[in-house]
Formats: sequence, structure tokens, C-alpha cells
Amino acid sequence: MTHSTDTLADDRNQRLFERAQALIPGGVNSPVRAFRAVGGTPRFIQRAQGAYLWDANGQRYIDYIGSWGPMILGHGHPAVVEAVQKAALEGFSFGAPTEREVELAEEILRLVPSMEMLRLVSSGTEAGMSAIRLARGATGRPKIVKFNGCYHGHADSLLVKAGSGLATFGHATSAGVPPEVVQHTLVLEYNDVAQLEEAFALHGSEIACVIMEPIAGNMNFVRASVPFMQRARELCTQHGALLVLDEVMTGFRVALGGAQSLYAQQIPGFAPDLTVLGKVIGGGMPLAAFGGPRAIMEQLAPLGPVYQAGTLSGNPVATACGLATLREVARPGFYERLGERTRSLVQGLEGAAREVGLPFCTDSQGGMFGFFLLPQLPQDYPQVLRTDGPRFNHLFHGLLGRGVYVAPALYEACFVSAAHTEEDIEATVAAAREVFAELVRS
Ligand SMILES: *Cc1c(COP(=O)(O)O)cnc(C)c1O
Repeated sequence: MTHSTDTLADDRNQRLFERAQALIPGGVNSPVRAFRAVGGTPRFIQRAQGAYLWDANGQRYIDYIGSWGPMILGHGHPAVVEAVQKAALEGFSFGAPTEREVELAEEILRLVPSMEMLRLVSSGTEAGMSAIRLARGATGRPKIVKFNGCYHGHADSLLVKAGSGLATFGHATSAGVPPEVVQHTLVLEYNDVAQLEEAFALHGSEIACVIMEPIAGNMNFVRASVPFMQRARELCTQHGALLVLDEVMTGFRVALGGAQSLYAQQIPGFAPDLTVLGKVIGGGMPLAAFGGPRAIMEQLAPLGPVYQAGTLSGNPVATACGLATLREVARPGFYERLGERTRSLVQGLEGAAREVGLPFCTDSQGGMFGFFLLPQLPQDYPQVLRTDGPRFNHLFHGLLGRGVYVAPALYEACFVSAAHTEEDIEATVAAAREVFAELVRS
């Protein structure tokens, strides 16, 4: 059975999309929402509650995007709604410090011990960009290393693809970014220890930082291998560069202490120098942060020479939302339960694919998961791109038509929230079983 609304004579999603396209480039305020990768009409969401979204046609979806990560408690959690309502009545923004910023900083620093100080900003892009400026300012060095397939926001110096060899630096992937701006960005392959060693051998004294997603959720779901993470840490320490973990997606999503807490269990003494957070820490409101050791963070204005600022930074409504969210996830057993729910989903999907002989594999951690129409888990971006695009699109639309909303692009992770029930998981697996059968027939 399919519930697709694409053929409805009165399709409100389509009408809204047409209106939006006349006013907003592509009809959207962030590109992946436009469904360009998968085709079709984006769903205009009217409201959400718990694990569900409703679109402009009143169609319900089980939501595995969760606003691309923040909605770890599901939508409209009563304690969070109450905190936001109360904060809104007290004032939207003051441009002056508040007690709640201090409380949120205390809560985050308590839960992520590698950070001694942090600064709050409004988006992950801003946090990543500021962390890099701080790394450059603190080390006095120009160059940064990033990895192919990792996303750290849309700052100029990060919109780069690899050059033709390790001796050459990257090329901008966006128009409007002059070559001079990316000449200090070196792009390497994820999980490639030898390439990272070579890059440090060639440029070590000029590298300010290595920035990476510890579990790369912007190439679906690819873990940094333990040897890769360990070697990155050692090389940064040896050469005086900073290791910056971008945990905008993984922070408070894969474990209470972020992905870094998982690597610290396997690599003795492991900690990043700087951590970048976003998404879950705002609980769905615009909020992000970056932080690290006191000596580095005190390089920031007004104490130090590295400038950084923001009119809405530490916004009182956003901090109320983030604080209420973090208080819920910090309850004992939260991530164990979330991880079990996510595993039961991915195991159900794997089982359904196996029944029909579809090449399929998955990985998950906490409330984050990925799936690939591939026989084995990829280790880097070129391997992720081996997924057959048209097949993924068939899977996406097959699920969407059956009321299951996963990321509309094969290089994006998906998310389970605390509001997803075992019945939601079963309904999802049942929908996937039907679509998988179509995929092997087509
Ligand atoms: C989402 C994301 C960002 C960018 O955050 P925005 O709030 O969208 O600017 C940066 N890094 C990672 C790892 C992300 O997943």
C-alpha cells in the first residue's frame, strides 16, 4: 500500500514549493531540503510531535531526520516546551550575559571533560569557523587539515576538495571562494593513516589543526578507525598542531560524552584539543559551542587576540531549550535505551534486506545510524559514493510514500529519538521490507 501524495490534485506541498521557489533560491533555506538528490517535491512540514512529522497535506511520517540531529528527545518534549515557554515570557534576547548561559556552560563542561572552557554561538558553521580561527591564532600557523567527506559548516576555508597531490593544497568547491582563501587547506582521505603521516612530514610545522568528524555523519555513517584517530592525536601532539573534533552531530547524540568518550575508552588518555558542538545542545533552537583547555580558550577576545563575537550568542530562549534537553539526556540509562532502539531498527532493516538478497549494511551508535546499499561498510568518501544513486532514490521515495522519512541524500546519517517506539520501528521495518522487494525486482 502506498500513501504517496505526489498525484493528489490538491497537493499543498507542491503549491507551497511553487510559491517558495519564486521567492527563495530553490525554494529552501538550506540546499538538502530541496530533494534535488532524490527528485520530487519536498514536504512542507506543518507540525511535529514525538517521533512524527505532518506535512502540508496532513500526511504523517515517522521522522528519522530529527531536524538533522537536534531532536534527540523527539518533538515537543513536555519539559523542553515548558522551559522554552517560561524563557520566552522572560524575554527573547538581551545582548547581555545571563545566568542560563553559565548553567549551560557548567552542564556541557561537566559532561565533556576535555573542555575546560567554552563559548556559545548560534550555528555549527560559526562554531567550526571560530574553532579554526582560534587554532590558527593559538599556534600562529596558517594551515589546516580536513578530510574528504567531512562537513564542518560552510565557512570559505572549508569548502574545499583535494588538490592533485599532497604537496598542493585544495580547490574551492563553491563559487565565490577565491583560491587564496583555500590555499592553506589540505584535504586528505578519511581513515588513511599513511597519507596523514605524509602530510605532517611535508607540512608539519605549518599545520595549525586537524579538524575531523569522529564519526562522519556527512558521508552517511563512517567511523574514524581507532588507529587513524590514535595516529591523528599523536601526530598533532608531536608537531604542535591542535586536534579539533567536530562533534556538532555526534555530541550528545552517540553517547553522553560524545564520540570522544568512546575513543577515550580505546585509546588511553585520548582527548581532543578543541571540540565543536551544535545540534543536540540547542535541542532544536539555534545554539552551538566550541571549547577546550583554558590556556587556548583564553586566547579569545576579550581576554586574548583572537576576535569572535555574536549578537544572539547564548540566546536566553535557545539556552533554556538546550539546558532542558541536556537534563533529559543526562538521566541514567538514556543512551543505553536509545542505542538499543536504534540497534533494533538497523538489525530489522538488515534482516529484511537479507530475506530478499539485497546488498545492504548498516552501522549505528547511540541515536545515530547509517545504511548503505553496499555489501560492506565504506571507510572513506570514494567508497560511500559507490552506492547506486537511482537505487537509493527508489528506496527513499518508497519509504517516504509509506510514511517513513529518512534523509533525502545517500551521504547523510539518520537519527532515532527517545520518542520512537518499538511499534514505530516495526512499522519502519515492514515498510522497508516492501521497498526492498521492489528494489531486487527492478
Ligand atoms: C551540521 C554540522 C555542521 C554545521 O552546523 P550548522 O548548524 O548547520 O551550521 C558542522 N559540522 C558537522 C559535523 C555537522 O554535522
